[in-house]
Amino acid sequence: MGKSVNIAVVGSGYVGLVAAVCFAEMGHQVTCVDNDPRKVAALQGGDTLIHEEHLPELLNRYRNTKVTFTTDLGSAAENAAAIFIAVGTPQSETGDADLSYVEAVACEIARHLTSYKVIVEKSTVPVYTNEWIRRSIERNGIDRKMFDVVSNPEFLREGSAVGDFLHPDRIVVGADSERAAQVLQDIYAPLTDGSYYKQANIIPGPFSADAPPPLLLTSTKSAEIIKHASNAFLALKISFINAVSNLCEATDANVQQVAQGMGLDSRIGPRFLRPGIGYGGSCFPKDVAAFRSVADQMGVDFSLLTEVERINATQKKRFLAKVRAALWTLRGKKLGVLGLAFKGDTDDIRDSPAIEMVQMLLAEGCSVCAFDPAAVERTKAVLPESDKVSYSTDAYAAAEDADALLILTDWAEFGKLDMKKLRTALRYPIMIDGRNMFEPATVAAAGLTYYSVGRPAAH
Ligand code: NAD
Repeated sequence: MGKSVNIAVVGSGYVGLVAAVCFAEMGHQVTCVDNDPRKVAALQGGDTLIHEEHLPELLNRYRNTKVTFTTDLGSAAENAAAIFIAVGTPQSETGDADLSYVEAVACEIARHLTSYKVIVEKSTVPVYTNEWIRRSIERNGIDRKMFDVVSNPEFLREGSAVGDFLHPDRIVVGADSERAAQVLQDIYAPLTDGSYYKQANIIPGPFSADAPPPLLLTSTKSAEIIKHASNAFLALKISFINAVSNLCEATDANVQQVAQGMGLDSRIGPRFLRPGIGYGGSCFPKDVAAFRSVADQMGVDFSLLTEVERINATQKKRFLAKVRAALWTLRGKKLGVLGLAFKGDTDDIRDSPAIEMVQMLLAEGCSVCAFDPAAVERTKAVLPESDKVSYSTDAYAAAEDADALLILTDWAEFGKLDMKKLRTALRYPIMIDGRNMFEPATVAAAGLTYYSVGRPAAH
Protein backbone atom coordinates (compact mmCIF):
# COMPACT_ATOMS: atom_id res chain seq x y z
CA MET A 1 0.00 0.00 0.00
CA GLY A 2 2.79 2.48 -0.66
CA LYS A 3 5.31 3.74 1.81
CA SER A 4 4.73 3.75 5.54
CA VAL A 5 5.09 7.18 7.17
CA ASN A 6 5.89 7.79 10.84
CA ILE A 7 3.08 9.95 12.17
CA ALA A 8 2.41 11.61 15.53
CA VAL A 9 -1.17 12.60 16.33
CA VAL A 10 -1.52 15.04 19.22
CA GLY A 11 -4.93 14.83 20.91
CA SER A 12 -6.64 11.44 21.23
CA GLY A 13 -10.28 12.55 21.15
CA TYR A 14 -12.90 11.82 18.49
CA VAL A 15 -10.73 13.14 15.67
CA GLY A 16 -7.24 12.25 16.89
CA LEU A 17 -8.05 8.67 17.90
CA VAL A 18 -10.02 7.95 14.73
CA ALA A 19 -7.27 9.49 12.57
CA ALA A 20 -4.61 7.46 14.41
CA VAL A 21 -6.23 4.04 13.93
CA CYS A 22 -7.22 4.87 10.35
CA PHE A 23 -3.66 5.94 9.48
CA ALA A 24 -2.54 2.57 10.89
CA GLU A 25 -5.20 0.86 8.76
CA MET A 26 -3.63 2.69 5.78
CA GLY A 27 -0.24 1.17 6.64
CA HIS A 28 1.41 3.93 8.67
CA GLN A 29 3.16 3.84 12.03
CA VAL A 30 1.41 6.11 14.51
CA THR A 31 2.11 7.51 17.96
CA CYS A 32 -0.97 9.01 19.52
CA VAL A 33 -0.38 11.62 22.22
CA ASP A 34 -2.69 13.01 24.87
CA ASN A 35 -1.93 15.08 27.94
CA ASP A 36 -4.68 13.29 29.89
CA PRO A 37 -2.88 10.32 31.51
CA ARG A 38 -6.18 8.54 32.32
CA LYS A 39 -7.19 8.66 28.67
CA VAL A 40 -3.81 7.33 27.57
CA ALA A 41 -3.99 4.48 30.12
CA ALA A 42 -7.51 3.54 28.97
CA LEU A 43 -6.49 3.56 25.30
CA GLN A 44 -3.39 1.49 26.06
CA GLY A 45 -5.73 -1.01 27.70
CA GLY A 46 -7.96 -1.15 24.61
CA ASP A 47 -10.86 0.97 25.89
CA THR A 48 -11.92 3.41 23.12
CA LEU A 49 -13.81 5.63 25.62
CA ILE A 50 -16.15 6.78 22.85
CA HIS A 51 -18.97 5.08 21.00
CA GLU A 52 -17.95 4.75 17.32
CA GLU A 53 -18.61 1.94 14.88
CA HIS A 54 -15.41 0.02 13.86
CA LEU A 55 -13.28 1.87 16.41
CA PRO A 56 -12.93 -1.01 18.92
CA GLU A 57 -11.90 -3.49 16.20
CA LEU A 58 -9.29 -1.14 14.67
CA LEU A 59 -7.95 -0.18 18.09
CA ASN A 60 -7.53 -3.81 19.04
CA ARG A 61 -5.97 -4.69 15.71
CA TYR A 62 -3.26 -2.01 15.88
CA ARG A 63 -2.82 -1.23 19.59
CA ASN A 64 0.81 -1.77 20.67
CA THR A 65 1.85 -2.58 17.09
CA LYS A 66 1.09 0.16 14.59
CA VAL A 67 -0.49 2.54 17.13
CA THR A 68 1.02 3.37 20.48
CA PHE A 69 -0.25 5.83 23.08
CA THR A 70 1.79 8.19 25.21
CA THR A 71 1.68 11.45 27.16
CA ASP A 72 5.17 12.28 25.92
CA LEU A 73 4.74 14.62 22.97
CA GLY A 74 8.49 15.19 22.75
CA SER A 75 9.56 11.67 21.84
CA ALA A 76 6.52 11.19 19.57
CA ALA A 77 7.37 14.38 17.67
CA GLU A 78 11.06 13.56 17.37
CA ASN A 79 10.34 10.26 15.63
CA ALA A 80 7.61 11.52 13.29
CA ALA A 81 7.77 12.94 9.77
CA ALA A 82 4.36 14.56 10.24
CA ILE A 83 2.76 15.79 13.45
CA PHE A 84 -1.02 16.15 13.33
CA ILE A 85 -2.53 18.58 15.84
CA ALA A 86 -6.00 17.28 16.76
CA VAL A 87 -6.65 19.01 20.08
CA GLY A 88 -9.86 20.85 20.92
CA THR A 89 -10.59 24.37 19.66
CA PRO A 90 -13.61 25.24 21.81
CA GLN A 91 -15.62 28.43 21.61
CA SER A 92 -14.33 31.24 23.80
CA GLU A 93 -16.62 33.69 25.60
CA THR A 94 -16.37 36.14 22.69
CA GLY A 95 -17.34 33.53 20.09
CA ASP A 96 -13.81 33.12 18.68
CA ALA A 97 -12.13 29.74 18.61
CA ASP A 98 -9.99 29.30 21.72
CA LEU A 99 -6.63 28.39 20.20
CA SER A 100 -4.69 28.09 23.45
CA TYR A 101 -4.48 24.27 23.19
CA VAL A 102 -3.14 24.54 19.64
CA GLU A 103 -0.60 27.15 20.75
CA ALA A 104 0.53 24.99 23.68
CA VAL A 105 1.11 22.05 21.33
CA ALA A 106 3.00 24.25 18.81
CA CYS A 107 5.35 25.49 21.56
CA GLU A 108 5.87 21.96 22.84
CA ILE A 109 6.68 20.74 19.32
CA ALA A 110 9.20 23.58 18.94
CA ARG A 111 11.06 22.34 22.03
CA HIS A 112 11.60 18.97 20.35
CA LEU A 113 12.24 19.95 16.75
CA THR A 114 15.57 18.48 15.73
CA SER A 115 14.91 17.65 12.06
CA TYR A 116 12.48 18.76 9.32
CA LYS A 117 8.82 18.12 10.24
CA VAL A 118 5.47 18.78 8.67
CA ILE A 119 3.09 20.17 11.28
CA VAL A 120 -0.50 19.53 10.29
CA GLU A 121 -3.56 21.41 11.49
CA LYS A 122 -6.21 18.71 11.83
CA SER A 123 -8.20 20.65 14.42
CA THR A 124 -10.74 23.09 13.01
CA VAL A 125 -9.05 26.47 13.15
CA PRO A 126 -9.68 29.96 11.76
CA VAL A 127 -7.83 31.32 8.77
CA TYR A 128 -4.33 32.59 9.62
CA THR A 129 -3.82 29.95 12.34
CA ASN A 130 -1.07 28.35 10.23
CA GLU A 131 0.82 31.65 10.36
CA TRP A 132 0.41 31.89 14.12
CA ILE A 133 1.70 28.34 14.55
CA ARG A 134 4.70 29.17 12.35
CA ARG A 135 5.38 32.35 14.33
CA SER A 136 5.19 30.59 17.71
CA ILE A 137 7.61 27.93 16.56
CA GLU A 138 10.01 30.51 15.17
CA ARG A 139 9.74 32.51 18.41
CA ASN A 140 10.98 29.40 20.16
CA GLY A 141 14.20 29.65 18.20
CA ILE A 142 13.46 27.22 15.36
CA ASP A 143 14.64 28.03 11.85
CA ARG A 144 11.89 28.45 9.23
CA LYS A 145 13.49 25.77 7.02
CA MET A 146 13.10 23.14 9.74
CA PHE A 147 9.34 22.80 9.36
CA ASP A 148 6.23 23.56 7.35
CA VAL A 149 2.70 24.07 8.60
CA VAL A 150 -0.10 22.64 6.49
CA SER A 151 -3.87 22.53 6.89
CA ASN A 152 -5.65 19.22 6.52
CA PRO A 153 -9.14 19.81 7.89
CA GLU A 154 -11.21 16.86 9.03
CA PHE A 155 -14.76 16.31 7.78
CA LEU A 156 -15.66 13.08 9.60
CA ARG A 157 -19.07 12.85 11.25
CA GLU A 158 -19.41 11.40 14.72
CA GLY A 159 -21.36 8.15 14.51
CA SER A 160 -19.70 7.16 11.23
CA ALA A 161 -16.24 8.59 11.91
CA VAL A 162 -14.10 5.60 10.88
CA GLY A 163 -16.03 4.99 7.66
CA ASP A 164 -15.91 8.70 6.83
CA PHE A 165 -12.16 8.89 7.44
CA LEU A 166 -11.40 5.95 5.15
CA HIS A 167 -14.02 6.95 2.55
CA PRO A 168 -13.81 10.75 2.55
CA ASP A 169 -15.86 12.78 0.05
CA ARG A 170 -12.65 14.74 -0.36
CA ILE A 171 -9.26 15.13 1.28
CA VAL A 172 -8.24 18.77 1.52
CA VAL A 173 -4.55 19.61 1.84
CA GLY A 174 -3.66 23.27 2.19
CA ALA A 175 0.08 23.64 1.78
CA ASP A 176 2.30 26.49 0.72
CA SER A 177 5.36 24.25 0.20
CA GLU A 178 5.74 21.39 -2.28
CA ARG A 179 7.83 19.37 0.14
CA ALA A 180 5.09 19.43 2.78
CA ALA A 181 2.34 18.78 0.23
CA GLN A 182 4.24 15.67 -0.89
CA VAL A 183 4.38 14.26 2.66
CA LEU A 184 0.60 14.63 2.97
CA GLN A 185 0.07 13.12 -0.47
CA ASP A 186 2.21 10.13 0.60
CA ILE A 187 0.18 9.72 3.77
CA TYR A 188 -3.14 9.69 1.90
CA ALA A 189 -1.82 7.74 -1.13
CA PRO A 190 -3.39 4.42 -0.03
CA LEU A 191 -6.80 6.11 -0.34
CA THR A 192 -6.17 8.35 -3.36
CA ASP A 193 -4.39 5.68 -5.45
CA GLY A 194 -7.06 3.15 -4.50
CA SER A 195 -4.63 0.57 -3.06
CA TYR A 196 -6.40 0.50 0.32
CA TYR A 197 -9.67 -0.54 -1.33
CA LYS A 198 -8.01 -3.52 -3.06
CA GLN A 199 -7.33 -5.25 0.24
CA ALA A 200 -9.48 -7.86 1.94
CA ASN A 201 -11.51 -6.99 5.06
CA ILE A 202 -11.46 -3.24 4.60
CA ILE A 203 -13.87 -0.90 6.34
CA PRO A 204 -16.74 -0.68 3.84
CA GLY A 205 -17.83 2.56 2.21
CA PRO A 206 -18.61 4.21 -1.10
CA PHE A 207 -15.08 4.38 -2.57
CA SER A 208 -13.23 1.63 -4.45
CA ALA A 209 -9.90 1.02 -6.17
CA ASP A 210 -11.48 2.08 -9.48
CA ALA A 211 -13.11 5.18 -8.03
CA PRO A 212 -10.93 6.50 -5.18
CA PRO A 213 -11.61 9.74 -3.30
CA PRO A 214 -10.17 13.01 -4.61
CA LEU A 215 -7.42 15.01 -2.90
CA LEU A 216 -7.72 18.76 -3.35
CA LEU A 217 -4.51 20.77 -3.02
CA THR A 218 -5.05 24.38 -1.99
CA SER A 219 -3.26 27.20 -0.25
CA THR A 220 -3.13 26.87 3.53
CA LYS A 221 -5.54 29.75 4.07
CA SER A 222 -8.06 28.36 1.57
CA ALA A 223 -8.03 25.00 3.36
CA GLU A 224 -8.67 26.69 6.70
CA ILE A 225 -11.61 28.59 5.19
CA ILE A 226 -12.96 25.45 3.43
CA LYS A 227 -13.57 23.77 6.79
CA HIS A 228 -15.34 26.72 8.41
CA ALA A 229 -17.30 27.53 5.25
CA SER A 230 -18.44 23.89 4.91
CA ASN A 231 -19.72 23.63 8.47
CA ALA A 232 -21.34 27.07 8.30
CA PHE A 233 -23.06 26.10 5.05
CA LEU A 234 -24.43 22.87 6.55
CA ALA A 235 -25.71 24.83 9.56
CA LEU A 236 -27.28 27.32 7.14
CA LYS A 237 -29.07 24.48 5.33
CA ILE A 238 -30.50 23.24 8.64
CA SER A 239 -31.62 26.71 9.72
CA PHE A 240 -33.12 27.28 6.28
CA ILE A 241 -35.30 24.17 6.40
CA ASN A 242 -36.22 24.96 10.01
CA ALA A 243 -37.45 28.40 8.91
CA VAL A 244 -39.36 26.73 6.05
CA SER A 245 -40.87 24.26 8.55
CA ASN A 246 -42.15 27.18 10.61
CA LEU A 247 -43.84 28.58 7.53
CA CYS A 248 -45.33 25.14 6.85
CA GLU A 249 -46.73 25.05 10.38
CA ALA A 250 -48.27 28.49 9.89
CA THR A 251 -49.93 27.41 6.63
CA ASP A 252 -50.79 23.75 7.34
CA ALA A 253 -48.38 22.63 4.62
CA ASN A 254 -46.07 19.63 5.10
CA VAL A 255 -42.32 20.33 5.31
CA GLN A 256 -41.50 16.73 4.42
CA GLN A 257 -43.17 17.18 1.05
CA VAL A 258 -41.56 20.59 0.62
CA ALA A 259 -38.08 19.23 1.45
CA GLN A 260 -38.57 16.33 -0.93
CA GLY A 261 -39.60 18.69 -3.70
CA MET A 262 -36.60 20.92 -3.04
CA GLY A 263 -34.12 18.07 -2.59
CA LEU A 264 -34.92 16.46 -5.92
CA ASP A 265 -33.32 19.52 -7.54
CA SER A 266 -29.75 18.32 -8.07
CA ARG A 267 -28.48 21.83 -7.36
CA ILE A 268 -29.96 21.61 -3.84
CA GLY A 269 -29.75 17.89 -2.96
CA PRO A 270 -31.84 16.07 -0.34
CA ARG A 271 -29.40 15.98 2.59
CA PHE A 272 -29.51 18.32 5.58
CA LEU A 273 -33.08 19.28 4.72
CA ARG A 274 -34.60 17.69 7.82
CA PRO A 275 -36.17 20.11 10.26
CA GLY A 276 -35.98 19.55 14.00
CA ILE A 277 -35.05 21.16 17.29
CA GLY A 278 -31.92 22.78 15.82
CA TYR A 279 -28.34 21.77 15.22
CA GLY A 280 -25.90 21.20 18.08
CA GLY A 281 -22.84 19.15 18.90
CA SER A 282 -19.24 20.07 19.42
CA CYS A 283 -18.74 21.51 15.92
CA PHE A 284 -21.56 23.44 14.22
CA PRO A 285 -22.36 25.96 16.99
CA LYS A 286 -18.72 26.80 17.69
CA ASP A 287 -17.65 26.77 14.05
CA VAL A 288 -20.46 29.08 12.92
CA ALA A 289 -19.58 31.46 15.77
CA ALA A 290 -15.86 31.30 14.96
CA PHE A 291 -16.46 31.89 11.24
CA ARG A 292 -18.69 34.88 12.02
CA SER A 293 -16.01 36.20 14.33
CA VAL A 294 -13.30 35.81 11.64
CA ALA A 295 -15.50 37.77 9.20
CA ASP A 296 -16.03 40.51 11.84
CA GLN A 297 -12.31 40.79 12.48
CA MET A 298 -11.63 41.08 8.74
CA GLY A 299 -14.29 43.80 8.39
CA VAL A 300 -16.52 41.55 6.25
CA ASP A 301 -20.29 41.68 6.77
CA PHE A 302 -21.46 38.08 7.17
CA SER A 303 -24.60 38.77 9.21
CA LEU A 304 -26.25 35.86 7.40
CA LEU A 305 -24.47 33.69 9.98
CA THR A 306 -26.03 35.63 12.86
CA GLU A 307 -29.42 34.83 11.35
CA VAL A 308 -28.48 31.13 11.09
CA GLU A 309 -27.71 31.16 14.83
CA ARG A 310 -30.87 33.09 15.68
CA ILE A 311 -33.12 30.64 13.83
CA ASN A 312 -31.35 27.75 15.52
CA ALA A 313 -31.93 29.17 19.01
CA THR A 314 -35.57 29.93 18.18
CA GLN A 315 -36.18 26.35 17.12
CA LYS A 316 -35.80 25.05 20.67
CA LYS A 317 -38.18 27.69 22.02
CA ARG A 318 -40.71 26.72 19.35
CA PHE A 319 -40.46 23.09 20.41
CA LEU A 320 -41.09 24.05 24.02
CA ALA A 321 -44.16 25.99 22.88
CA LYS A 322 -45.28 22.88 20.99
CA VAL A 323 -45.03 20.78 24.17
CA ARG A 324 -47.00 23.43 26.03
CA ALA A 325 -49.65 23.57 23.31
CA ALA A 326 -50.05 19.78 23.52
CA LEU A 327 -50.11 19.50 27.32
CA TRP A 328 -51.53 22.89 28.39
CA THR A 329 -49.63 23.49 31.67
CA LEU A 330 -46.19 22.00 32.25
CA ARG A 331 -45.64 22.17 36.02
CA GLY A 332 -45.81 18.69 37.50
CA LYS A 333 -46.04 16.93 34.11
CA LYS A 334 -44.12 13.69 33.74
CA LEU A 335 -42.39 13.35 30.39
CA GLY A 336 -40.72 10.40 28.72
CA VAL A 337 -37.72 11.51 26.69
CA LEU A 338 -36.07 9.51 23.92
CA GLY A 339 -32.62 10.75 22.99
CA LEU A 340 -29.96 12.76 24.80
CA ALA A 341 -26.98 12.68 22.39
CA PHE A 342 -26.65 15.61 20.01
CA LYS A 343 -27.50 13.23 17.17
CA GLY A 344 -28.01 9.51 16.63
CA ASP A 345 -25.23 6.88 16.67
CA THR A 346 -23.02 8.77 19.11
CA ASP A 347 -22.64 9.14 22.87
CA ASP A 348 -21.47 12.74 22.46
CA ILE A 349 -23.62 15.20 24.42
CA ARG A 350 -21.49 18.31 23.88
CA ASP A 351 -23.87 21.19 23.06
CA SER A 352 -26.68 18.66 22.61
CA PRO A 353 -30.00 20.34 21.79
CA ALA A 354 -31.71 17.35 23.45
CA ILE A 355 -30.07 18.11 26.79
CA GLU A 356 -30.88 21.80 26.41
CA MET A 357 -34.53 20.87 25.80
CA VAL A 358 -34.58 18.68 28.91
CA GLN A 359 -33.11 21.54 30.94
CA MET A 360 -35.78 23.92 29.60
CA LEU A 361 -38.52 21.41 30.49
CA LEU A 362 -37.13 20.93 34.01
CA ALA A 363 -37.08 24.71 34.44
CA GLU A 364 -40.81 24.68 33.56
CA GLY A 365 -41.44 22.25 36.43
CA CYS A 366 -41.66 18.98 34.46
CA SER A 367 -40.05 15.74 35.56
CA VAL A 368 -38.28 13.60 32.99
CA CYS A 369 -37.51 9.91 32.51
CA ALA A 370 -34.97 9.66 29.69
CA PHE A 371 -33.54 6.92 27.53
CA ASP A 372 -30.65 7.06 25.08
CA PRO A 373 -28.94 4.01 23.57
CA ALA A 374 -25.43 5.35 24.32
CA ALA A 375 -25.43 8.73 26.07
CA VAL A 376 -27.05 8.08 29.47
CA GLU A 377 -23.82 7.72 31.44
CA ARG A 378 -22.36 10.95 30.05
CA THR A 379 -25.65 12.77 30.66
CA LYS A 380 -25.72 11.72 34.32
CA ALA A 381 -22.64 13.90 34.86
CA VAL A 382 -24.61 16.95 33.63
CA LEU A 383 -28.09 15.99 34.83
CA PRO A 384 -27.70 13.77 37.92
CA GLU A 385 -30.57 11.50 38.95
CA SER A 386 -33.01 13.28 41.28
CA ASP A 387 -36.73 13.40 42.10
CA LYS A 388 -37.17 15.20 38.74
CA VAL A 389 -34.68 13.28 36.56
CA SER A 390 -34.51 9.53 36.05
CA TYR A 391 -33.09 7.28 33.35
CA SER A 392 -34.42 4.07 31.89
CA THR A 393 -32.73 1.22 30.11
CA ASP A 394 -35.20 1.09 27.22
CA ALA A 395 -37.61 3.32 25.33
CA TYR A 396 -40.79 1.64 26.63
CA ALA A 397 -39.76 2.11 30.25
CA ALA A 398 -39.14 5.83 29.56
CA ALA A 399 -42.72 6.08 28.27
CA GLU A 400 -44.18 4.26 31.30
CA ASP A 401 -46.95 6.33 32.92
CA ALA A 402 -45.76 9.53 31.19
CA ASP A 403 -48.04 12.40 30.21
CA ALA A 404 -46.32 12.46 26.82
CA LEU A 405 -43.34 10.98 25.01
CA LEU A 406 -40.80 13.37 23.45
CA ILE A 407 -38.28 12.39 20.76
CA LEU A 408 -35.21 14.59 20.86
CA THR A 409 -32.44 12.64 19.05
CA ASP A 410 -32.62 10.91 15.66
CA TRP A 411 -31.39 7.45 16.66
CA ALA A 412 -32.33 5.12 13.80
CA GLU A 413 -33.48 2.47 16.30
CA PHE A 414 -36.24 4.80 17.54
CA GLY A 415 -37.76 4.49 14.07
CA LYS A 416 -38.38 0.78 14.75
CA LEU A 417 -40.29 1.25 18.01
CA ASP A 418 -43.57 -0.60 18.47
CA MET A 419 -46.20 2.17 18.57
CA LYS A 420 -48.86 -0.01 20.18
CA LYS A 421 -46.47 -0.92 23.01
CA LEU A 422 -45.65 2.76 23.54
CA ARG A 423 -49.35 3.59 23.52
CA THR A 424 -49.94 1.01 26.27
CA ALA A 425 -47.04 2.33 28.37
CA LEU A 426 -48.04 6.00 28.23
CA ARG A 427 -50.55 7.52 30.65
CA TYR A 428 -51.81 9.80 27.86
CA PRO A 429 -51.36 8.87 24.19
CA ILE A 430 -49.29 11.85 23.14
CA MET A 431 -46.02 11.82 21.18
CA ILE A 432 -44.13 15.03 20.39
CA ASP A 433 -41.37 14.32 17.91
CA GLY A 434 -38.61 16.91 17.51
CA ARG A 435 -36.88 14.84 14.82
CA ASN A 436 -39.70 13.79 12.48
CA MET A 437 -38.87 10.11 12.93
CA PHE A 438 -42.26 8.71 11.89
CA GLU A 439 -44.98 8.89 9.29
CA PRO A 440 -47.80 10.75 11.09
CA ALA A 441 -50.46 8.30 9.84
CA THR A 442 -48.57 5.29 11.32
CA VAL A 443 -48.39 6.86 14.76
CA ALA A 444 -52.00 7.97 14.65
CA ALA A 445 -53.10 4.46 13.58
CA ALA A 446 -51.68 3.12 16.87
CA GLY A 447 -53.98 5.46 18.78
CA LEU A 448 -51.48 8.22 19.56
CA THR A 449 -51.81 11.92 18.93
CA TYR A 450 -48.65 12.85 17.07
CA TYR A 451 -47.03 16.28 16.88
CA SER A 452 -43.91 16.74 14.76
CA VAL A 453 -42.00 19.62 13.14
CA GLY A 454 -43.46 21.42 10.12
CA ARG A 455 -46.17 18.82 9.53
CA PRO A 456 -49.83 18.86 10.56
CA ALA A 457 -50.61 17.02 13.80
CA ALA A 458 -52.10 13.55 13.37
CA HIS A 459 -54.77 11.98 15.60
P1 NAD B 1 -11.84 16.08 21.88
O1 NAD B 1 -12.11 17.01 22.99
O2 NAD B 1 -12.63 14.80 21.78
O3 NAD B 1 -10.30 15.67 21.89
C1 NAD B 1 -9.26 16.58 22.08
C2 NAD B 1 -8.14 15.85 22.85
O4 NAD B 1 -6.99 16.68 22.90
C3 NAD B 1 -8.51 15.51 24.29
O5 NAD B 1 -8.34 14.12 24.50
C4 NAD B 1 -7.52 16.33 25.13
O6 NAD B 1 -7.15 15.67 26.31
C5 NAD B 1 -6.36 16.45 24.15
N1 NAD B 1 -5.44 17.58 24.43
C6 NAD B 1 -5.73 18.85 24.74
N2 NAD B 1 -4.60 19.56 24.90
C7 NAD B 1 -3.57 18.73 24.66
C8 NAD B 1 -2.15 18.87 24.66
N3 NAD B 1 -1.57 20.05 24.95
N4 NAD B 1 -1.40 17.81 24.38
C9 NAD B 1 -1.97 16.61 24.10
N5 NAD B 1 -3.31 16.41 24.08
C10 NAD B 1 -4.10 17.45 24.35
O7 NAD B 1 -12.02 16.94 20.54
P2 NAD B 1 -12.44 16.41 19.08
O8 NAD B 1 -13.91 16.28 19.00
O9 NAD B 1 -11.57 15.28 18.71
O10 NAD B 1 -12.04 17.70 18.21
C11 NAD B 1 -10.70 18.04 17.96
C12 NAD B 1 -10.69 19.07 16.85
O11 NAD B 1 -11.21 18.51 15.64
C13 NAD B 1 -11.53 20.32 17.12
O12 NAD B 1 -10.89 21.43 16.54
C14 NAD B 1 -12.81 20.02 16.37
O13 NAD B 1 -13.48 21.20 15.99
C15 NAD B 1 -12.30 19.29 15.16
N6 NAD B 1 -13.27 18.40 14.53
C16 NAD B 1 -14.09 17.65 15.30
C17 NAD B 1 -14.99 16.78 14.69
C18 NAD B 1 -15.94 15.95 15.51
O14 NAD B 1 -16.91 15.44 14.94
N7 NAD B 1 -15.70 15.77 16.79
C19 NAD B 1 -15.05 16.68 13.29
C20 NAD B 1 -14.16 17.45 12.53
C21 NAD B 1 -13.29 18.31 13.17
